[in-house]
Amino acid sequence: MSKSERKSVLPAEPSHGYEFGGPIGAFAASLGLPLVCYLAAFLCNEISGCPVPSALHPRSLTLSKLKEEAGWPTDGVLGLASLTVTGWVLAYYLLSLVLYIALPGQEMEGPELRTGGKLKYKFNAFQSAVFTLGLAAVGTAMQSSDFVLWTFIWDNYVQIITANLGIALFLAWFSYYRSFTVNAGNTQKRELAEGGHSGNLVYDWFIGRELNPRVELPVFGVIDIKAFCELRPGMLGWILLDLAFIAHQHKVHGYVSDSILLITGFQSLYVLDAMYMEPAIMTTIDITTDGFGFMLAFGDLVWLPFTYSLQARYLAVYPVNLGILGIIGVLAPQALGYYIFRSANNEKNRFRTDPNDPKVAHLQSIKTAKGTRLLTSGWWGTARHINYLGDWIMAWSYCLPTGIAGYRVLHSSPITNDDLSPANGGLTGGIPIKTEFVQGEAKGWGMIFTYFYILYFAILLVHREMRDEAKCSRKYGSDWEKYKKKVRWRILPGVY
Ligand code: NDP
Repeated sequence: MSKSERKSVLPAEPSHGYEFGGPIGAFAASLGLPLVCYLAAFLCNEISGCPVPSALHPRSLTLSKLKEEAGWPTDGVLGLASLTVTGWVLAYYLLSLVLYIALPGQEMEGPELRTGGKLKYKFNAFQSAVFTLGLAAVGTAMQSSDFVLWTFIWDNYVQIITANLGIALFLAWFSYYRSFTVNAGNTQKRELAEGGHSGNLVYDWFIGRELNPRVELPVFGVIDIKAFCELRPGMLGWILLDLAFIAHQHKVHGYVSDSILLITGFQSLYVLDAMYMEPAIMTTIDITTDGFGFMLAFGDLVWLPFTYSLQARYLAVYPVNLGILGIIGVLAPQALGYYIFRSANNEKNRFRTDPNDPKVAHLQSIKTAKGTRLLTSGWWGTARHINYLGDWIMAWSYCLPTGIAGYRVLHSSPITNDDLSPANGGLTGGIPIKTEFVQGEAKGWGMIFTYFYILYFAILLVHREMRDEAKCSRKYGSDWEKYKKKVRWRILPGVY
């Protein structure tokens, strides 16, 4: 066996200890995070309120009342899934695969692997998204808010969560089992993730054992599972969910509010921007460091689309009209956050791709013993993760448009002929009911759902920063200490 062959069959470095609370944390996250997605779906709804009224009166709460208010399926847990819905969700993934192969895209090499060599990637998430959104636009132009895609998403929301969860579980198990062939000897630039081979099944399955699992599919050829999941089905799914919620608001209320339009506009900008800059994922932790396990599969395919779109889902049922001042109030954090986020990420990506690029050539940096340079001026001289700050500021503009959230469904009564006029919303989901909403005692409590993103995202970014810090410290050793002396702050200059 040659030296290079021997290099490629061994894990590059010893595993570096547990993150996320080890196996117990991994187990808790694997059960708890899917549960959060279902809880949000059931406890904030258009049947009884947001939150459901019983939640505000825990003393008189009974399971049967809670089930009724939450719209729990009549056939119980089995009703959380549907074969037909799963079939359509799989068709959506298949469309993404077909577009990945059929549409032109930028082809480039990925980062240098620890075991040597670089993998090849093709990027066309942006083109694929534009194509899919174009199809949806045609359907909407023809059928307005009754377009089948939008009604399908609204009517089968919970079953769509389950289908995506099933796919995430499948991909996580598949990648876990296949990762054991990395050691069996191959020269296909396969390697284990640095922190993903502790030997504990639960932890390794969660955190991701193989760094870049790839699969060769008939007709489609070689697919990089992690890169495919990163910006394609889930990210586009986020926009599609938002659009379905706009359609629902239009269908029920007869108009589209400025708040839901702004949120969808901001989030679409975030998603399409990330897709347009898709090659930039090559320098992110997800691609360079983390293996592909349940954490990334679930995060990309379930958590991101379904929890990041909670605000638009809320507004679909309970529209908020912001007016000019309100619009300015939410545009401000969006503009500031986007400016910091985009310029910082571009600066690092440009510098790492071509340090002689005139836009970054003047920036100061330190050369590390690993050969790479760390920026110490410009955005990256202000804080070690200034890009996270921009991202978090933007998070506010996604949540503020929901105002002091919370509503209660006052009553649902049989619909009259007058109510059937389009101006009054017409029929909803084929059920002839008329619904009225008041905020009442629910006012403020709905913010648990609509401001969840700000809190969750702050925790994610602070935790992610710590993980990256630990990774860089391991990788760069004394050079990282030197860098930290020059760039003192972690995320928020002057504070943290
Ligand atoms: P970053 O893009 O911040 O990349 C961190 C890496 O950059 C480090 O590991 C190091 O890699 C390199 N690096 C660190 N400091 C410097 C420096 N001074 N100069 C040059 N290179 C440096 O990490 P993420 O992948 O976490 O984030 C990418 C973007 O994605 C962020 O804007 C973040 O906000 C966003 N994000 C969004 C999420 C969401 O759910 N919406 C979730 C996660 C991230 P190396 O080893 O190569 O030196």
